[in-house]
Amino acid sequence: MSKMIIVTAPSGAGKTTIVRHLLETYDNLEFSVSVTTRPQRANEKEGEDYYFKTVEEFKKLIEEGAFLEWQEVYENQFYGTLKSEAERLWADGKHVIFDIDVQGAVNLKKVYPERTLTIFVKPPRLETLLERLRARRSESEESLQKRINKATVELTFEKKFDIVLVNDDLETALMEAEWIVERYVFDKKEMKILN
Ligand code: 5GP
Repeated sequence: MSKMIIVTAPSGAGKTTIVRHLLETYDNLEFSVSVTTRPQRANEKEGEDYYFKTVEEFKKLIEEGAFLEWQEVYENQFYGTLKSEAERLWADGKHVIFDIDVQGAVNLKKVYPERTLTIFVKPPRLETLLERLRARRSESEESLQKRINKATVELTFEKKFDIVLVNDDLETALMEAEWIVERYVFDKKEMKILN
C-alpha cells in the first residue's frame, strides 16, 4: 500500500532540506507539490516547488473541493494539498512525501491515518530556529516576524506527531530520517504506522 509521509516543523527547523534528501535517496518516493498564493521566490519553479495561484484562484479550488487540506498559513497566504496530486502519485505506485505546516499536518493525518506517518522536525533550541530564519534573508522584516511568532507557537505541538526528529547536526538528522523511512515506510515486516 502506498504511504504518506508528512514532514512538518516550525519554519526554519530545516525540514525542506530533509525532504529533499529523502527524495534524492529513494526512487519510490515522490513530492506532493502544493498550491500557494505567496509570491514565487527567485529560485523556485512553477509545478516543482509549488503551483502558484492568486487568492481568487485558490478560493475557487476550495469551492471545487480540490484539496485534501488547506491552511491560511500566514495572513492572506494560503497553502493547500491537492487531492489530484496524491492520487496521481499513488496511481504510479509511489509513496508520497509532504512538506506542510503543523496544523495542515494534523489535519492531513486524519484523512488517511492508517497509511500516514507524521514526522515533526524540531530544532534543538528556539534560538537556533531564530538564527536560521534570519540567515535565510528571503523574507521582508514583517514576514520574518510573522514566521518567528508562528514558529514559537508551533514548537509546542510536537506531541501530536508520530515521530519527533531533532535537527541539531544536519548529517545525523538526514541519517535518522532515512532510518525512519526505511523502518516505518518500506519495511514489509513493520508496515504498521504508529497512531
Ligand atoms: P514556505 O512559504 O516557506 O514555502 O512555506 C511556509 C509553510 O507552509 C511551511 O511550513 C510549509 O511546509 C507550509 N506548506 C507548504 N505547502 C503546504 C500545504 O499544502 N498545506 C499546508 N497546510 N502547509 C503547507
